[in-house]
Amino acid sequence: MKNKIYGNKFALDTFEAMFKSGRLPHSFLIYGEKGLGKKALAEYLSAALLCEKGTGIPCGECRSCRNAEKGVHPDIIYPEHSGKLNTYTVETCRHVCADAFIAPNNGSAKVYVFTDADNIQLPAQNSLLKIVEEPPDFVYFIFTASSKDVFLPTIISRVTSVGVSPCTFDECAQALGIKGYESSRISEAMENFGGNIGMCVEYLENESLRVITSLTKRAADSIISRDEYSLLTVMSSAELKDRHMSAVFLEMLDRIIRDCTALKFNKSASLISCYPKGAEKLADSISVKSAEKIHNLLNTAAADVRANVNSILLMSALCGEIINS
Ligand SMILES: [Zn+2]
Repeated sequence: MKNKIYGNKFALDTFEAMFKSGRLPHSFLIYGEKGLGKKALAEYLSAALLCEKGTGIPCGECRSCRNAEKGVHPDIIYPEHSGKLNTYTVETCRHVCADAFIAPNNGSAKVYVFTDADNIQLPAQNSLLKIVEEPPDFVYFIFTASSKDVFLPTIISRVTSVGVSPCTFDECAQALGIKGYESSRISEAMENFGGNIGMCVEYLENESLRVITSLTKRAADSIISRDEYSLLTVMSSAELKDRHMSAVFLEMLDRIIRDCTALKFNKSASLISCYPKGAEKLADSISVKSAEKIHNLLNTAAADVRANVNSILLMSALCGEIINS
């Protein structure tokens, strides 16, 4: 099973060392950007916690590991997202608190995995505080989220946080090669998403992400050349009439702005956007202040898109504001 995890060697080694030392925490938070393998790591840890061989590495052969791999282990529990925000509600968390005191079905432990906890609200977090602080001996919790900031400091102080990071280019290329993609397409995906395997796969599989990526780069080029007409052409593309697509576009463009700001302060900053070259040119052409203004405009626009504001009107207004900032 370890061979299914690419990169994140530090996280795996830390876990193994904690396991072997007998000082294993009961709650983990795996955090980091979309596509970096948080869920895969959560699956790996759950399997390791329940593996009958108890070495800290899932053997992949025992009954527990086989069930974990098939996703049918009764002691690996994935509470469900629900409600308006599609997240973990207070009711769901209270149910987990009660269920946690019931002994495991098969193995010696029970693992609750809360994936994509980004929208989890404060009342739900508060309802988990006590159980996360003092869980029954056989209970483990694993949370995954894009950032630690999602959680209350009181939760953060009770969990062991593990950050995921992009793979090296070689690891990513190898992982994508095993999945059967052609090398020219792998290079194209990695040009946009570096060592982020999840995003590379999405790029290769999903035509709309390829379109959005290209629109995002064109938008950045228009900002660099201060060309309002060309920015307007990009922003009024038919693809951006879709709310989800326009939200992804705004997020990807904001990452280029983020990279540009990072480069202003540190020429060798590590970059996270799909267009490092564009971010470099942008850093030469706009001030930190303008970058901050554009960042704020993009954030407000993203909130408006989520709140269902007409995205065509929004994009054309945004376009003028960006060029003038
Ligand atoms: Zn095993």
